[in-house]
Amino acid sequence: MSTPHFETEAIRTQIERSQFLEHSSPLYLTSSYIFEDAEDMRASFSEEKERNIYSRFSNPNTSEFVEKIAKMEGAEAGYAFATGMSAVFSSLAALLNSGDHVISSRSVFGSTHALFTKFFPKWNISHSYFKVNEVEKIESLIKPETKIIFAETPTNPGVDIIDLEILGEIAKKHNLILVIDNCFATPYIQNPIKYGAHLVIHSATKLIDGQGRVLGGVTVGNSDLIREIYLFSRNTGPALSPFNAWILSKSLETLAVRLEKHSENALKLAEFLETHPNVQNVKYPFLKSHPQYEIAKKQMRLGGNIISFEIKGGIDAGRKFVNAVQLCSRSANLGDTRSIVTHPASTTHSKLSEEDRLEVGITDGLIRTSVGLEHIDDIIADIKQALS
Ligand SMILES: *Cc1c(COP(=O)(O)O)cnc(C)c1O
Repeated sequence: MSTPHFETEAIRTQIERSQFLEHSSPLYLTSSYIFEDAEDMRASFSEEKERNIYSRFSNPNTSEFVEKIAKMEGAEAGYAFATGMSAVFSSLAALLNSGDHVISSRSVFGSTHALFTKFFPKWNISHSYFKVNEVEKIESLIKPETKIIFAETPTNPGVDIIDLEILGEIAKKHNLILVIDNCFATPYIQNPIKYGAHLVIHSATKLIDGQGRVLGGVTVGNSDLIREIYLFSRNTGPALSPFNAWILSKSLETLAVRLEKHSENALKLAEFLETHPNVQNVKYPFLKSHPQYEIAKKQMRLGGNIISFEIKGGIDAGRKFVNAVQLCSRSANLGDTRSIVTHPASTTHSKLSEEDRLEVGITDGLIRTSVGLEHIDDIIADIKQALS
């Protein structure tokens, strides 16, 4: 048989069947595992044998989830975490030493920004930010202590696109580790390893679960780096629970069909918004008007489910719009079957100064929409009545 396609791997990558010959992978709720005898125990602990010892290290359900994501991303290995943030923190902390320097895109998830600015300085780890439209400046930020380039694309909530090919070239030329937070794209839409990323991180809480049920995270990539991350994590304890791994592995079986529909709905809504008189501008990667449309088309299979748009009338208009939606949920989460609207300037990013907000593209009237899987006519009808 030829190499199976994405959808086939997502469905047919399965742990070994038990004596019950179950069709669907069972849930292994066990904290630990037993040994045949003292020799088996010795060989297992010395890692001569690859097997489950304790669920903080590995578990059949987490292994199945990691194996699927690794195949989907074209990665050698991976480790699953309790949340997206534990994946980001543990992966970086495992690799960085006191004195090291990280270069990161300025637009990163709020808690990742907090890691760089509030917590890493405690361990003498510094950072420099580059703006999404200033990728060519990255080389001028490199210092002898620089170890990692970190980036998120598409960005949150601005939906800007960073050229992965350029990041990959810079990382290679300067022998730096390239780490991509691929959460908004998912492994179905974008595979950063193809462009030279060494590690890819996901918050599985978002589109990978896709149904707003559980938290989870995962890091996949180069096996030597994953080995360091694994050793750090099996000792510090951010492991994914078997139950959440089981849910997330099931979710991956439908990732491709969900993302096709999410992206189809989002493109239709984005096209509608572009024609609306109360909307100043719309940003969606697969709209021709997107400033990085060409890069998006090069590195993304689809546009994904996040749209940001600017309502005329500033903060008040933004708040009024959020109050007026009836079908869409008011929530800060994203990547659910249910459509969600957020007004970052008055909620998730309200603590930033206006200057800082504008620097990451969060204008007063900006609305972030996570387009769900409801019928597109119903989503558009709701947004339309709220805009008027
Ligand atoms: C949500 C999110 C995270 C953090 O994930 P959690 O599962 O909430 O910890 C990290 N990066 C991005 C881009 C996210 O959207």
